[in-house]
Amino acid sequence: MKNILIGIDLGGTNIKVGCFDSNLKLLGKTSIATRLRRADMGPQTVVERLSAEIGRLVGRCGLKTEDIAAAGIGTPGPADYKAGIIINSTNMPAFKNFPIRQLLSDKLNCPVAFDNDANVACLGEFVAGAGKNITDMVFFTLGTGIGGGIISGGKLIRGSSGNAAELGHVIIYPGGRQCNCGQRGCVEAYASANNTAKRAKEAVENGEQSGLKKILEQKGEIRCEDVYEYLKNGDALAKRITDETAEALAILCINMLHTTDPQRIVFAGGMIAAGDILLDRIKYYFNKEIWKLKKETVEICFATLGEDAGIIGAAAMAREKLKAKR
Ligand SMILES: [Zn+2]
Repeated sequence: MKNILIGIDLGGTNIKVGCFDSNLKLLGKTSIATRLRRADMGPQTVVERLSAEIGRLVGRCGLKTEDIAAAGIGTPGPADYKAGIIINSTNMPAFKNFPIRQLLSDKLNCPVAFDNDANVACLGEFVAGAGKNITDMVFFTLGTGIGGGIISGGKLIRGSSGNAAELGHVIIYPGGRQCNCGQRGCVEAYASANNTAKRAKEAVENGEQSGLKKILEQKGEIRCEDVYEYLKNGDALAKRITDETAEALAILCINMLHTTDPQRIVFAGGMIAAGDILLDRIKYYFNKEIWKLKKETVEICFATLGEDAGIIGAAAMAREKLKAKR
């Protein structure tokens, strides 16, 4: 019966795939390497390999490719989500002006939904994770960069061109640090994993005392994980850097609270491995700076689905696409 949903999370390193029933119950999942840097592995080949892998996965679940009702795919931007085209991606340089939605739809012979990976993960958390049973949520992924997603009245906000919720590039300190996007003072320029590490490195290079100096001397770099490791040991610089990160994120939370009035603000991504020590500081600055009347109207928490948020969200998007067609 044609009622299976496929959720695909296409990243620079791996492609994760999940096979779900119509109630989004996970029937099986798999992962293959994206391997885009080899000359013989153009995006066409990736789609071929991906389709073959989906066929194997569906088979392992005791089903046939013909049972697939719809698929959803999340990719890093920038992309033309309405046209279904990946424009270019720093992590996947071979995918240039690539019409992924149509090609995948032809291969799988079903409708394919396509959106950016942060929106997809946001929807995953909304339907099955930290956003379950609410209607309004703001979602941030804290990784190399900062991605975002907004659910309002149970629906993802996509904007006029499909590029809403680029929350990493909300300006929180005008004239502040230079961001990769060209603006100054974006929250990403402070609070992404990369920029957290970068600020620590700059401070050590400027002579600030810290155990992280040893890490920089030994490894030639400081990673975000190192900052949180030293934070646990009470390192003063690690504490200052974390406070700056937490304050930047708290300001972003306050701005989003005033913009969309969510019930929950959810943080996901590699950096939440830092744990409560980070979450507590975000809440501290949030409560310190928020307009009193708005206090305690929102819950700030971490995501709960981990890496599966992408495939679950993509399958949920596929289900939405089917409903819209009916
Ligand atoms: Zn920016």
